[in-house]
Amino acid sequence: MKLQKLGGLLLNSSNNFNKSGNLLGGNMKIYRKGNVEYNLKTKKKVYEGEFLNGKRHGKGKEFLDGFIYIGEFIEGKKHGEGTEVCKNTKTWIYKGQYSEDKRHGQGKERSNGFLYQGYFKEGNRTGYGKVYEIKSKKLVFKGYYFEGVRQGKGEHFINKSYFEGTFMSGQLTTGNEYVLDGNNEDYLLIYTGDFLEFQKHGKGIEYDINTGHVIYIGIYEFNKRKKGKEVKPYSNRCYTCKKQVDTYNNNPCFKCYWLKCASCGSCGCSYNKSNRFDENQFGFDQ
Ligand SMILES: [Zn+2]
Ligand SMILES: [Zn+2]
Repeated sequence: MKLQKLGGLLLNSSNNFNKSGNLLGGNMKIYRKGNVEYNLKTKKKVYEGEFLNGKRHGKGKEFLDGFIYIGEFIEGKKHGEGTEVCKNTKTWIYKGQYSEDKRHGQGKERSNGFLYQGYFKEGNRTGYGKVYEIKSKKLVFKGYYFEGVRQGKGEHFINKSYFEGTFMSGQLTTGNEYVLDGNNEDYLLIYTGDFLEFQKHGKGIEYDINTGHVIYIGIYEFNKRKKGKEVKPYSNRCYTCKKQVDTYNNNPCFKCYWLKCASCGSCGCSYNKSNRFDENQFGFDQ
């Protein structure tokens, strides 16, 4: 096909319309005929749709590597509502808002068997969003993204486990781990602390799944207890403020392993220095 003979115009890109038909440089030489733009080199259609003053404007289709964009354009750029459809599977891979040629605003994205529903900024997931496994329709994640990765508060579901906490560069770093009870009704807390790849890793505290009492405090490496202390259920009175502390309501301190008082913050670390020791009270040790 000899496009030059069709009476169209040569453009250096879709955005710059050259009235004289001269090529202005740029990678893709584009040839426009009627409401269709072609890649001059490959002769393939790159755009079909509405124009205004020589620029893509209004509704149109852009033909890209592997997918087609169908949606709105403003002054040559994808802007407004649009859909990306995979050429091979003929299914959509993105549906949502665009700005300045990029995914921006609210949108839905399908990739690797998962559906993301949430916010985008300058082409990437940024802001709050939810992820579902497409096959099972189950919620896998809800929380915050920044530049395409999980960052900030988030909740993650795997099989019968549920994690909530803080994500950094896509990884859960600190938070809580729960498991579903036998009736699949409630999530029960079993661990609070540091994580790596959704495994207990770093400083953490384990709880008895049935009673909720602290059973272990220490350092973990990929779910294995490395250094710490096993804890048996007990209750006592805080030596400073005399309020009750127990292994159900209070977490131990990582330095001294004594329970930390929720009211005044006392633990064994300040015990020796304290002049408020009452002979009738006990420390927190078992
Ligand atoms: Zn206290
Ligand atoms: Zn302490």
